[in-house]
Amino acid sequence: MFPFLDLAGLNRRDESALTEAFQRVLRSGWYVLGAEVSAFESEYANACGVRHAVGVGNGLDALTLMLRGYLQLGRLEEGDEVILPDNSFIATALAVSEAGLVPILVEPDANTFNIDPIAVESAIGPRTRAIIAVHLYGCLADMGRLRSLADQHGLLLLEDAAQAHGARDEDGSVAGALGDAAGFSFFPVKNLGALGDAGALTTQDDALAEQVRKLRNYGSSRKYIHEVQGVNSRLDELQAALLRVKLVRMDQDAQARRYLARRYLEGIDNPLLRLPQMPAVTASHVWHQFVVRSQQRAALQDHLERNGVPSLIHYPVPIHLQQAYRQYAGLDLPVSTRLADEVLSLPMYPGMPDGWVEKTIEACNSFRG
Ligand SMILES: *Cc1c(COP(=O)(O)O)cnc(C)c1O
Repeated sequence: MFPFLDLAGLNRRDESALTEAFQRVLRSGWYVLGAEVSAFESEYANACGVRHAVGVGNGLDALTLMLRGYLQLGRLEEGDEVILPDNSFIATALAVSEAGLVPILVEPDANTFNIDPIAVESAIGPRTRAIIAVHLYGCLADMGRLRSLADQHGLLLLEDAAQAHGARDEDGSVAGALGDAAGFSFFPVKNLGALGDAGALTTQDDALAEQVRKLRNYGSSRKYIHEVQGVNSRLDELQAALLRVKLVRMDQDAQARRYLARRYLEGIDNPLLRLPQMPAVTASHVWHQFVVRSQQRAALQDHLERNGVPSLIHYPVPIHLQQAYRQYAGLDLPVSTRLADEVLSLPMYPGMPDGWVEKTIEACNSFRG
């Protein structure tokens, strides 16, 4: 079986530049919050088309500190409700809970996998203060409709952009610039991945950026002076230096993923598999995952495995059915529940050998249920 994601191979493409970046940091003698972090923050803010990027320890912290920042600025209050999709990675909900806010889980649209604006509208109540749109699998959520709902009801519109680095809408605006603030993860398997944990907040909001800069560093903007009760969630110099190397490839890697998506969409033809949609604006999808659906998923996954093709499930259990959120177990979210039973991610990464792409297509097409 070939690898689902050849991370070592992806990083080997930049081995000499990454090694050079490592040596630069090694020899600098400065390892946390320094010149590399500042440079990466300005380069990443630039790539997203926003004024601020604030490097933090990981994607969960980016989301949590964004919400805590808004709480401290008085834009949110403890106990406020935040609407998010039930079919996300659990981090989206954990950030809300961790910040003392209440997650309101809603249905996705079965065709796009993204939060359903109609479900969002019906979930808005008197305590609702924010919506978190997750650009799931790398496809931009319907930010136009979510923005008009947010404006109509005076809500913050936030992005969990952990899977959507570099995705662009029809105006050329980039994930991270499509809401009031966004959280990114640079976990190694993400489209822009570090060689360890890393994350960032992006925003146009000067006050929020300043607040999160404090929060990530013990609530301090001057050494040993602590204005708020912060945390330790800083981006390492080393990860920032490595991310600067990898950022250069972000757009071309998205193109490579789009090419593979097209190969799959044109090559896979089997009524037992439902293919994802290529959005009308092709740049709005960066194909973090290529996700098919099948009512016979277990048999399909077995069949692929017998043919040497790896696959993964993102995600097998929706948030409302996780033990960690057992208080939500009674919610009726049939679309999200059905997707959790049917989704299957096929291998997809820049530079994936053509033979493996062919092998995946053939294995999908020979599945007979
Ligand atoms: C990966 C991911 C996160 C969390 O990022 P970490 O860096 O692992 O903390 C949050 N949301 C989504 C949608 C993700 O895919």
